[in-house]
Amino acid sequence: MQHDNVFLFATGNRHKRREFEGLLDEFLSPTWQLHDLTDWPEPMPDIEEDADTFVGNAIKKAGDASRVANCTTMADDSGLEVDALDGRPGVYSARFAGEDATDADNNAKLIEELQGVPDSERTARYVCVTALAIANQKVGRAILRRLHTNFQDVPAGDLREEAELTRVEDRLFIWFRGTVEGRIIDEARGDGGFGYDPHFYVPRWDKTMAEVPMAKKNSVSHRAEAARKLVDYFPSGRKP
Ligand code: IMP
Repeated sequence: MQHDNVFLFATGNRHKRREFEGLLDEFLSPTWQLHDLTDWPEPMPDIEEDADTFVGNAIKKAGDASRVANCTTMADDSGLEVDALDGRPGVYSARFAGEDATDADNNAKLIEELQGVPDSERTARYVCVTALAIANQKVGRAILRRLHTNFQDVPAGDLREEAELTRVEDRLFIWFRGTVEGRIIDEARGDGGFGYDPHFYVPRWDKTMAEVPMAKKNSVSHRAEAARKLVDYFPSGRKP
């Protein structure tokens, strides 16, 4: 396969791909061929999400997939941070109640752990980190051109600062964090969304995430904010 014009979303979730595709409309050039892991035409090994931060996992997924696929790749990692639980479930959000936990299991564990915690101390946030691994191919070079830089001029180093372009081994990375602030409530409300949404109450809307219509949630979510930051990072906001 010719990988020069290819941009990969390192996700096996087609819904997530479509959501990001919509959000990144101004960033994605129509000349790029978009793929996700479900339609990638070559074998792709499973990438373990074993970092202890969202940033670590997003960068690992983007970098590993980009090296195997040999193209510019975006990956994300998201979850729920609850202040009274010292940031848990965090990167373990999907498996809070165990490896094969359902949303109902995870929510039951969350509510159980928060018994006795007053409303004012139930602050929490959804976090999404998107990471972009820029490969040295046509798409990657177009992105760098847009930033008026090139591979050689980007300093090598650790990736610490959001949106700072850094070279790690043979790849350049940029990453962004989006958040939505809320509070965990005992009573489940609403039947939209997924995961922790029925218990995630957003005071400024006076609604849980499961009560917010999907189109609105998709435009204001932690994923939307992280994607918006990527679009805004590029001067003039136009396509590379
Ligand atoms: P992942 O980034 O798809 O691996 O998401 C990890 C987990 O975080 C999900 O399985 C959910 O439990 C939780 N999560 C992430 N985003 C949301 C959201 O928008 N609503 C509810 N739960 C979420």
